[in-house]
This record gives sequence, C-alpha cells and structure tokens, in this order.
Amino acid sequence: MEKYSFLNIVRHGLRGHRHWQPVWRNPRLKTRYDVVIIGGGGQGLATAYYLAKRHGITNVAVLEKGWLGGGNTGRNTTAIRSNYFYPESTNFFEHSLKLYEGLSHELNYNVMLSQRGVLTLAHNPHQMDMLERWSNSILLQGIDAEMLDVGQVRSFLPLLDTRRSARFPIYGGFIQRRGGVARHDAVAWGYARAADALGVDIVQNCEVTDIEVSGRRVLGVRTRDGLVRADKVAIAVAGNSSVVAQMAGLSLPIVSGALQAMVSEPVKPALDGLVVSPTVHAYISQSDRGEILIGGRADGYPSYGQRGALPALEDTLSAALNLFPSFSRLKLMRQWAGIVDISPDSSPIVGRTPVTGLYLSTGWGTGGFKAIPAGGDTLAHTIAHDRPHPLIEPFGLDRFTTGRFVNEAAAAGVDH
Ligand SMILES: Cc1cc2nc3c(=O)[nH]c(=O)nc-3n(C[C@H](O)[C@H](O)[C@H](O)COP(=O)(O)OP(=O)(O)OC[C@H]3O[C@@H](n4cnc5c(N)ncnc54)[C@H](O)[C@@H]3O)c2cc1C
Repeated sequence: MEKYSFLNIVRHGLRGHRHWQPVWRNPRLKTRYDVVIIGGGGQGLATAYYLAKRHGITNVAVLEKGWLGGGNTGRNTTAIRSNYFYPESTNFFEHSLKLYEGLSHELNYNVMLSQRGVLTLAHNPHQMDMLERWSNSILLQGIDAEMLDVGQVRSFLPLLDTRRSARFPIYGGFIQRRGGVARHDAVAWGYARAADALGVDIVQNCEVTDIEVSGRRVLGVRTRDGLVRADKVAIAVAGNSSVVAQMAGLSLPIVSGALQAMVSEPVKPALDGLVVSPTVHAYISQSDRGEILIGGRADGYPSYGQRGALPALEDTLSAALNLFPSFSRLKLMRQWAGIVDISPDSSPIVGRTPVTGLYLSTGWGTGGFKAIPAGGDTLAHTIAHDRPHPLIEPFGLDRFTTGRFVNEAAAAGVDH
C-alpha cells in the first residue's frame, strides 16, 4: 500500500487524479424504469437507496438537473436533532437520528456524524418555563433532553455572553446531547455510492421538464434527454416542489424562499456543540475546518433567487454577535442561500398524491437534512407498498383538507 506521505500527496496533486475510481457510474438514461425519482438531493438519493436495499427494487433512476447535493443538501448548516414537540414529529425525527447513528456503518462511508449536543437558549424566565414544558414532553416520549441553568450553559459554551447585563440575558437552556452535526456532502455521496452499487442509475445534468399523466395516473417524465416511462415517480426537489408538482397538475401548499447561511474565516476550536436562540434568531456551530457556521431565519418573502437578501444577512449576523460579542473580530468568509419549501404547519409533506403512482417528498423547509435517512426510508416503503409508512401517515398531503395539522412552527422556529 502506498504511503500517505507529504511527497505522495504532492505527486498525486501534480499528476492529476489518475487511477482514482469514480464513486458512482455515469449511466446512460434508459427509456423505462420501475421508479423515477426527480431530484438528486439527500431525500431523493436516500429514497433510491432504501428502495434497492430494503425492497429489492433496483430498476430505479434518480434524475438530477444539476449535480448531486447541489441543492439544499449541500447548502445547509447540518444540524441534526429529534427534539420536536408533537409525538408525530419526534417519532419520525428520532427514527432519523437513530438511522444517522448507524449511517457511516450502513453505507460504509464516513458521514462524520458528531453528536456534540444541540443547545436551545432561554432569555427570560417565561422561556425557561416553555423549554421545561418542551423538554418534559420529549422525555415523556423517551427521547433525551436536559435542562441547563446559566452556569451549566456557561461551562458548555464559555464564549457565550452570559452576563446578566447582556442585551439578551441568558437564563439557561435545554440540550439534546445526542443532537449534533454531520458532513452534508458525505451524506449525499454516501447514499449515492451505495445506491449506485445496488444498481440504481443516478443521472446528473438531467432536468425533468414535464410529468406525463393520463387519467390521474402517472406514466413517466419528460427530460431534456427524452421521455422516460415509469409506473412510479417521486418528486423530491425541495424549493422547486411547487413548479415540478404543477407539471402533474398538482397545486401544493408550499411557500418557497431563500434561507441563508455563512461562515467565518477558520479559527482554532472555540465552540463545542451547536447553540440555537429562538429569540435573537440565530444558530451557531463550528465546522471541523474551524469556520464559525452561522444560520438564521428565512428571508421572509417568497423567492426563487438562490442568493438571499442583505437585510436577512445583517439580522442574522447581529443576532450572532449578540450571543458571541467576541466573534465581531472574525472576518466573514462566505455566504450562500438555498430555496426552502415551507408548509403551512412547518411539517413535511410526504407520501402519496391524488395522482396514482406519483409520490411527494417536500415541506422539509429549513430542517430536512436531519430527516434524510427517515425521509428516504419511509418514502421508499410507501412507494414499494403504495401505502404510507406508519411514521409518515400524519404527514400526508390530505391533512390540508382534513385539517389535521402537525404544527411544529415553534420547534422548527429558528430555521434549521
Ligand atoms: C441555508 C440552509 C440551512 C439549513 N440548515 C439545516 C440544518 O441545519 N438542519 C436540517 O435538518 N436542515 C437544514 N436545512 C434544510 C435542508 O437542507 C433541506 O430540507 C434538505 O436538504 C432537503 O433535501 P432534499 O433532498 O429534499 O432537497 P435538495 O437537496 O434541495 O435536492 C433537491 C434537488 O432537486 C433538484 N431539482 C430541482 N428541480 C429539478 C428538476 N426539474 N429536475 C431534476 N432535478 C431537479 C435540485 O437541483 C436539487 O439538487 C437548511 C437549508 C438551507 C438552505
């Protein structure tokens, strides 16, 4: 085996990537598949993987208009947690967290899960009461949660401004220690590699331009490379959901808009854990490259402009500096945005649609990275059996006619 010396790294760099094996094939698009998945983000790729792995359905294509993970999956701030409020959500997100805990092993690909804890802050006594209620509700559902007083918060995150005279004084918080972060690209690439190995065709630069429907049954999709027939088609295109669903005549209760994030220049380890403040509207962690990673609220108006607006960026930065005044000395290195798909009750919309053979994975909004394993697992089950997986039954499109919402606006409140 070749030694990983500095010299070898330089030699490989100068020679180019010769003899490197592609991680997945670059297959020719066939004219017929059993299942076509539109969108090569984490949700689409995970669905394809579980279809092949758990249900033996391998004649599957994932069609991606750009590159894998180039949508929200590669743009997010990678927070993973299962501390939602209602049992419908906690059950689902806990399933996802458990799958994350075994994912590197399952995919034989290091997704760099780091369970460093997700801490939600309270800035007044009333919020402490609310967090206590929230954490009790989660504990009752068998999920880990722990209240911290301000002293415990200070020792967890010493750089946080915990002075009583701070603009937003901190009274304490609630932590899910099993929460944390994972490497977003690795999640997409790991699922892609494993799905490809099971025979799934992953086709990049292949935009779906229309969905063929006849008599309320799906027949296939039209792409820039021609017509592809399939009895089952799944839409997993995040912020493009309304546009793509419209191709099949479906009007979705989704609002699309930009959600921004940003990173500072890299610094030495300064921040263990991920901290969220629903009051100032910011959440902050440190990446394994040392950058301080900052996210905030969505831009506040519908848009497909994948750039984000300056006022939201300013708001988020001033919120972050309220929490960590010492970060004002850091240089901001990069800022970006993704178009998120927000449903009226801030919960996902996953499962069947009124068009037979057409399935939906949307409404992940600002928090669907943590849902990738469970979203893929449950949608694959739903497609394979044409029956909703029990965990996603509450999240069907039909809840907007029955009125059985799962309102997670508060738990999904700060956008991650
Ligand atoms: C800034 C930001 C921060 C976030 N932070 C977090 C976080 O900390 N934790 C968390 O859990 N979630 C977070 N999210 C949300 C999370 O990233 C998304 O919910 C999740 O990635 C959605 O995955 P997806 O596969 O559905 O969508 P995507 O990853 O967006 O994939 C959809 C794909 O569909 C493709 N597509 C679109 N139209 C077509 C078409 N017509 N034909 C073919 N392909 C098409 C797109 O190119 C795209 O690659 C964040 C999002 C953003 C933008």
